[in-house]
Formats: sequence, C-alpha cells, structure tokens
Amino acid sequence: MTDVLLNYINGEWRRSSAGAYLDVINPATGQPIADVPLTPGEEVDEAVRAGMEAFESWRRVPVGDRIQPLFKLKQLLEENLDDLARTITDECGKTYAESVGEIRRGIENVEVACGAPSLIQGYNNEDIARGIDEHMIRQPLGVVTAITPFNFPGMIPLWFLPYAVATGNCFILKPSEKTPMASQKLFQMLEQAGFPKGVVQLVNGSADTVNALLDHPGIKAVSFVGSTPVAKYVYSRATANGKRAQCQGGAKNPVVIMPDADMEMTTRILADSAFGCAGQRCLAASVAIPVGEARERFVEYIADAATSRKVGYGLEEGVQMGPVITQESKARIEGLIGKGEEEGAQVLVDGRGKVVEGYEDGAWVFPTVLDNVNPKGEIARTEIFGPVLSLMHANTIEEAIQLVNDRPYGNMACIFTSSGAAARQFRYEVSAGNVGINIGVAAPMAYFPFSGWNESFFGDLHAQNHHGIEFYTQTKVVVERWPKEWSRTF
Ligand code: NAD
Repeated sequence: MTDVLLNYINGEWRRSSAGAYLDVINPATGQPIADVPLTPGEEVDEAVRAGMEAFESWRRVPVGDRIQPLFKLKQLLEENLDDLARTITDECGKTYAESVGEIRRGIENVEVACGAPSLIQGYNNEDIARGIDEHMIRQPLGVVTAITPFNFPGMIPLWFLPYAVATGNCFILKPSEKTPMASQKLFQMLEQAGFPKGVVQLVNGSADTVNALLDHPGIKAVSFVGSTPVAKYVYSRATANGKRAQCQGGAKNPVVIMPDADMEMTTRILADSAFGCAGQRCLAASVAIPVGEARERFVEYIADAATSRKVGYGLEEGVQMGPVITQESKARIEGLIGKGEEEGAQVLVDGRGKVVEGYEDGAWVFPTVLDNVNPKGEIARTEIFGPVLSLMHANTIEEAIQLVNDRPYGNMACIFTSSGAAARQFRYEVSAGNVGINIGVAAPMAYFPFSGWNESFFGDLHAQNHHGIEFYTQTKVVVERWPKEWSRTF
C-alpha cells in the first residue's frame, strides 16, 4: 500500500475527489511510493475562494506579525531537515547531501523574507509642490500561485511562498506530480507554523490542475519554474488572462575553459556541475568549451572524472550521483546521446545501458562525455537534462563567447581562467543572467535575484529578495495636501 497524498485546502488536509491518480516512483528502486491526485477544477476553485476570503484579513495583519510564522517555519525546517532530505532523495533520486543542500537554499529564502518589514517599505517626497507630499506604498495582490518542477521539490516552492505571504498575499502551491512528497512535509510544517486557514494551500495535480489555476479570475499572479515550452505556455495563458507572471524555463549552460585555468580545480568543479543531481539542475554545466591549448588536458581530466563518479541510490554512503527522474527521461537522454553521435560527436565516456547492482529497476544514466559536438546540430541546442557533458572547441575567447551566445537559452554561463581581463570580457559580453567566474553552479543566494535570460525566462521580475517583494506587491502612489487653514487650532 502506498500513501495517498492529500491536498491542504482552507486549513484542512483533504483527500481529493480526483477521478485519476498518478504513481510517484522512487527513481532508484523503480517502486511506487505514493499516489498523487490530479485535482479537478472544482477543488482548485474551492482553494482560490478560501484564499480570497483569508486575504481580506491577512492583508491587514501587520507585516511584523505576518513574518512570525516564517520564523517558526525556519525552525521547523531545521528540526526536520533529515526527514525532509530523505524524502527528497526517495522521490527525486538525488544524493542525501544534495537534498540537504537544496533545503538549505530554501531555508535561506525563508530567512530573507523575514526581512519583509524593511523590504516592503515604499518611499516618499515632501513638498513635490508647496505643501503637497507624495508617497509610494506597496500593497499585496490577493491570491497567488506557484507551479513548480520535479528537480528541487524542497527548494523551489520556497523561492516564492515566503515572499508571497510576508507581503500579505495568500498562496497556493501546485508542486510537480513527479515529486509531490516534499510538499506534504512542507505543508505539515506550515500548518504547525501557525498560518491562518486559507493563507497557504496545496493542490496536487498536473496540466489540468494548472489550467484551472491559470484560468481562475481569483488568481492574481503566477510563478512558474519548469521546461521552456511549458514556461512559455503558462506565461502566455496567465498573461492573456490578465495575471502577472514570472516563468523560469529550461537551460543549456556553457562553460568556457581558458588555457590558463587551474585544470585540476576546474575539472573537479565542472564535473560536480555537469553530473551533480544527475545533470538535472537548471544550472548544470552542459556544454564545455576549452579554448586553444586547454583542450588536450581538459578532455583527459574530464573523462577521468566522469568515469570515476560513483553512481547509486542516494541514501547510500559514498554515492556521488543518483538516477534520472523516470524511465522515460532515461530513454530520452539516451536517445539524445545517440543523436549527438549521428551528428558527428564522439562518445568519450558512455553512460548508456548501465545498471546499479541491487537496483536493476532504477532509471540509471551514468556520466557521459561527448566530444566534438557539432555547434550547429540539434544536440548543441537541446536541453538534455541528464548527466551528459558536450564538448565544443574554440581557438580564442571571442570564438568561445560566440559559441556561448549562439544558443536560445540564457540561464547561466561560466568561465574558468586566471586572467582578470578574460573574466571581465566574458562577464561583459555573455548573454546570460547568471554568470560564474571560476564557479560551476552560479546559483544566486536568496538575497540576489535568480536571473535567467532569453528562452530561460519569461517575465520581468525574477525570484527571490527584492524581485520577489516587487512581484507580489502593487505600488500605490498617494499625493496629498493638508492646508493648515483646514485644521482647528488648539
Ligand atoms: P515541466 O515543465 O515538465 O513541469 C513543470 C511544472 O509544470 C509541473 O508542475 C507540471 O505539472 C506542470 N506542467 C507540465 N506540463 C504542463 C502543461 N502542458 N500544462 C500546464 N502545466 C504543465 O518541468 P520538469 O520536467 O518538472 O522540470 C525540469 C525543467 O525545469 C527543466 O527544463 C529545467 O531546466 C527547468 N528548471 C528551470 C529552473 C530555472 O530556474 N530556470 C529551475 C529548475 C528547473
């Protein structure tokens, strides 16, 4: 018997009336571990209505009081970190250490949102004309929603929820149907943290549940993280319905290695970036571009690093990389490796067709390195979202930057070098929102915006910190005059 996952609506855990459920599969064992409901539109409507009702009082709670449950949430996340991390590893496949790392990143966002009393402040000018003052204040939007992907089930909901509620909104989460179990735990903690009913709600489901949220007139803003085609679709439908939207999409992250880079350090960091979380990070390095003489040494080092990585069940000691999320994903990734070969690449390290002993039903793809990937081919432009590093070669930094910029995405670009001039040129010229200099996963801390560009992001305000506060509030400008002669004299 697997657990039937519940929705959390209007302060209650409820079994959905869904006509259909999906299996949640542990990708390492291949075994079902829970059933997730595909929540129908009527229940989404109930949640939105509960949120609208709660909003009327929640927006009036002073911001200093609104953040008190977030302090409690932080404490609960710390206390339950081990249990939450194990759940993430079981449903998502990443290693225990990676699960702990993602929860830490989520906790950071809770901490930053606790600064809402300062972050939400407006500004003002006295005497914009004689005796007339002008103020800008920020007010919440109403009921907002976030639709999140499978790969960071503990962290990504926390890119949004803390800022949304701290600014006075009511929040509905629709987590990934592939990894919905971390959200059950998160909402148990939110319940204990003491949010009034209707302020935070959870509805499980997939595309139809998302559509019900996107079409509901009571939803004022939509935050989305997932693949580019769905990000584009959600952005179009939400904005066509008059909602605010911020939609983070997929990625294909290039890394340039200059000949003066410290090759040992570079390879170690890059292998972690490309193969960590089995390459299922939107900030995973997926294309390496060694420049000039860097080529020979880098190819040798990275092939070694890929071959020696220990793959297995993420809760076992010493495992450095887990499975990919599903058997379908494994088949897609292996198909793309084959496509790369057809386009002329050489498979230096082949992770296809491998199995981990004792876990024969797992979705295993081992680290893979493709050399001489055709820059004009499909593989160079397609997000693989698996542990596959593609190598392209350049003779100069200019050629390398051209290769970086000649692609549809713009989530991250990195350079490894000991030259400040090369680093500066790269930082200045690359078309990407997150840039790493001698860094393999340039993930912005919670007090910076998470800034994808191009096909990696649709919208204007990003996630985290000030961007989150701005996204979840609307500005109101008040111009006022109080002539002295109207006042009684005392
Ligand atoms: P996905 O696009 O398949 O799903 C994301 C969410 O959208 C899920 O909640 C899913 O239920 C919903 N969804 C899926 N298809 C839908 C449809 N047709 N209509 C409406 N809703 C739909 O993404 P995924 O496979 O869960 O996650 C991996 C993707 O997310 C990768 O492309 C990765 O790069 C991206 N990602 C991006 C970032 C970022 O910050 N830019 C972060 C993490 C993941």
